[in-house]
Amino acid sequence: MWRDLEPLGRNAGSGGYRRYAWSEADVECRAWFRAQAEGRGLAYEVDRNGNQWAWLGDPEAQDAVVTGSHLDSVPDGGAFDGPLGVVSSFAALDELRGRGVEFGKPLAIVNFGDEEGARFGLACVGSRLSAGQLGVEQARRLTDADGISLPQAMERAGYDPTAIGPDPERLARIGAFVELHVEQGRALDLSGDQVGIASAIWPHGRWRFDFRGEANHAGTTRLVDRRDPMLSYAETVLAARREAHLAGAVATFGKISVEPNGVNAIPSLVRGWLDSRAADQATLDTVVTGIEKAAREYADTHGVELDIVRESFTPVVEFEHALRDEIARILQGASDRLEVPVLGTGAGHDAGILSGSVPTAMLFVRNPTGVSHSPAEYAAEDDCVAGVIALADVLEGLTRR
Ligand SMILES: [Zn+2]
Repeated sequence: MWRDLEPLGRNAGSGGYRRYAWSEADVECRAWFRAQAEGRGLAYEVDRNGNQWAWLGDPEAQDAVVTGSHLDSVPDGGAFDGPLGVVSSFAALDELRGRGVEFGKPLAIVNFGDEEGARFGLACVGSRLSAGQLGVEQARRLTDADGISLPQAMERAGYDPTAIGPDPERLARIGAFVELHVEQGRALDLSGDQVGIASAIWPHGRWRFDFRGEANHAGTTRLVDRRDPMLSYAETVLAARREAHLAGAVATFGKISVEPNGVNAIPSLVRGWLDSRAADQATLDTVVTGIEKAAREYADTHGVELDIVRESFTPVVEFEHALRDEIARILQGASDRLEVPVLGTGAGHDAGILSGSVPTAMLFVRNPTGVSHSPAEYAAEDDCVAGVIALADVLEGLTRR
């Protein structure tokens, strides 16, 4: 499976993947998914939002056990974020068939469309639409950098966009959804475990900081006469690092725009975007409040005006405890491990979106460097196999309960 997927959407220059939703590369990945499903005799279907499903057993029956992930990528993404979950799902099914398991419930493998949001700027579009967390009109208005709308892109890829929208009946037939994913951090590497269980997705948000000063000549304006917003911005970046460090959270200024953006001009405006995430809401509030307070002080010091706007916010997603505990029991029963690590994550996933509608859990596979969203993203073959076995154990346990 990896050999077949490897060349699809891979950029020769960067070595990274550019599998944007509904692009040629995405269509190739989708053809691969369909071939994997049909090659195993699974019933293949596409839902109203373009998510692909492969069914073993009756899709109309209740209490289905569903696994899967996504095949699209960020710009120059790695091979594992998304595809590891889909490949592991098919491999886990093969493993269970090899064990001669009789399934007491329908089992499905899913590929959610447009998880990364690389093309239309909004993540998890496929699962958000199905879960009713993205309005149909809003989805129809999404456009890419070339002005192509989401419906147009779906149509060009050979999918029917006319019925996009909430899919509560389909979701109601799912008894449990388990997404396996490469870890996007180093917790498992540090604890020495191959596989872990997700506890929660951290609350996270984006804030825009506009520092307004006065443009002037970089050569003739005395330092004391300047109102330089770059200074306040720079101090705020350091404050963000300090506040996050103190609270055990993360805070990042990763995007900036400067006006007039001239080498020999003191800026009039520095606009920086803060991304901050923490294990719980109170910690995140403390971090962001601390950064805002520091930013206002620095702005005052330099005679700079400051506006702060929260552009987006996603509250904490706590995965269902009963399902999580059941998965922990299954994994502990299937191995000689005393305890399977349970870890939080700062990254969003389809599983997080679905958790509002369906009992949902996640398994993480060790990432030795923690690097993700990069061509250097990696998981060792041994760990990937351990992930498949763990997923197979979980699916077997859940279809029997
Ligand atoms: Zn992912």
